[in-house]
Amino acid sequence: MRIENELKLGFKDVMIRPKRSTLKSRSQVTLDREFTFLNSKKTWKGVPIMAANMDTVGTFEMATALAEHNVFTAIHKHYSFEQWKDFVTNANEQTIRNIAVSTGTGKSDAEKTTKILTAFPQIDFICIDVANGYSEHFVSFVKKMREKHPDKTIIAGNVVTGEMVEELLLAGADIIKVGIGPGSVCTTRVKTGVGYPQLSAIIECADAAHGLGGQIISDGGCKTPGDVAKAFGGGADFVMLGGMLAGHEQSGGNLIEKDGEKFKIFYGMSSETAMNKHVGGVANYRASEGKTVEIPYRGNVHNTVNDILGGVRSTCTYVGASRLKELTKRTTFIRVQEQENQVYS
Ligand code: 5GP
Repeated sequence: MRIENELKLGFKDVMIRPKRSTLKSRSQVTLDREFTFLNSKKTWKGVPIMAANMDTVGTFEMATALAEHNVFTAIHKHYSFEQWKDFVTNANEQTIRNIAVSTGTGKSDAEKTTKILTAFPQIDFICIDVANGYSEHFVSFVKKMREKHPDKTIIAGNVVTGEMVEELLLAGADIIKVGIGPGSVCTTRVKTGVGYPQLSAIIECADAAHGLGGQIISDGGCKTPGDVAKAFGGGADFVMLGGMLAGHEQSGGNLIEKDGEKFKIFYGMSSETAMNKHVGGVANYRASEGKTVEIPYRGNVHNTVNDILGGVRSTCTYVGASRLKELTKRTTFIRVQEQENQVYS
């Protein structure tokens, strides 16, 4: 056993210090970023925020709405090939540029992904998502996908430490998904004791990825636009959102009514709800590591997206960053007590 004493931080442990700035208004800030990826060599330009590949969030309807803002969607892996066909046939170019096909490491997932990418070569991104990105099987799956799809941009995760970020990039991934345990409907930390404070994970993993020319996604734990700004400030190239985009018209999950109020069901992808829906129940050797919640219905996602983008633009004006790309360089985090942050959040 070993104890690591170095300080590790979550979003709630910091605030961003304002800096002298020449910017007069948020309208002077651009949130677009352009990346050319390490292994695929493909270029993507857009607002680097992503809807999570959860069946309550990463839906075709969400992708269509978010693409209007140049925001990205990792489409969840539970759509059939036929559903993909209908969607791609009707989607515009902007939407197609801003989506990923998600897969686990199982044989049937991999076959379906290859079938989708073969039928629709215009899709550039694959999101290989497992709860625990530390297994050898996962690394060899990433290598196989790289061999099979040399020109696709591969997102792989989730991990939280620099050495694993490097290993996955060297195995052929382009963008590494970072986050174990911070998700709003995730119970991994409670069920297993495993996790890593998200802001420190971002800072350490971004450093490792950027050293090799790769990118990272901060995945999970953002509850407010301020958290999204902190993730970018810490060095995240992309920020993935589940809970903040749940509960909308474009989100999946049943709409229910209670005492005249509307709610949408939102659940973790390894919750009992998800496992009952997709794999016929929770296998008895494992525990569910996700929960199910009811979110007050929030209507059209466009308002929420504008709120998030407006918040991040405002952060940029507070620190004098005219482009999102400059935010990390201009960020100084101040450590605060949790209570302090709650007062202001
Ligand atoms: P949020 O933005 O809601 O805080 O976090 C979204 C992220 O939580 C997802 O992108 C995914 O990485 C993670 N997640 C989703 N469902 C589950 C689950 O059932 N268990 C765990 N451990 N994590 C989940």
